[in-house]
Amino acid sequence: MNIILFGPPGAGKGTQSKYLVNKLKNFQVSTGDILREEIKKNSTIGQQITNNMNEGKFVSDEIVNDLIEKIIFDPQKKDKLIFDGYPRSLSQAKHLDLLLDKSNQKIDHIFFLNVNKDTIVKRIDKRKLLENRSDDDTDTILKRYDTYMETTRPVLDFYSKNPNFHEINGTQEIDQITREIEAFINV
Ligand code: AMP
Repeated sequence: MNIILFGPPGAGKGTQSKYLVNKLKNFQVSTGDILREEIKKNSTIGQQITNNMNEGKFVSDEIVNDLIEKIIFDPQKKDKLIFDGYPRSLSQAKHLDLLLDKSNQKIDHIFFLNVNKDTIVKRIDKRKLLENRSDDDTDTILKRYDTYMETTRPVLDFYSKNPNFHEINGTQEIDQITREIEAFINV
């Protein structure tokens, strides 16, 4: 089963995808984690993206699409993908469609975790203390939220017509969100 978790930064996509990965024995595809790993390794890509990420700006579609392609065509991961933080722009969503088509896969469920700005700011303030992410300070959070509204939210129109699109109130408790997701995927 392939699933997309969609929503603003701090919506709880990471938390829910980790749960689903465990439950379904699937693979988490978190472009944020993959990009942070590139920075940690100080790879060529890592060096190119550090500034963008620290400023809350997007990494180029080209870099992200390339990283994702390897995962989609990995036979071990076929039909076992939980997308967390990808796609984040219309061009990424179209690219994903193309890659899935080519690899003979489809998306089974798209969950939109809908959360308001105040909740996001509070949650990310808390996460900063736990995870110490360099892009979790208040200014950067607000920039990331604006980028989401401008570039990522239009992807909703692309997916909302899909019969497997489900909107979930992401301000609820973690367990309640998990229960609502489970009801759709029948596990
Ligand atoms: P995340 O961990 O998903 O909140 O992502 C952290 C940061 O990584 C974002 O603010 C972007 O700078 C970058 N990033 C993650 N996923 C993408 C993506 N699909 N496209 C472009 N940039 C991304």
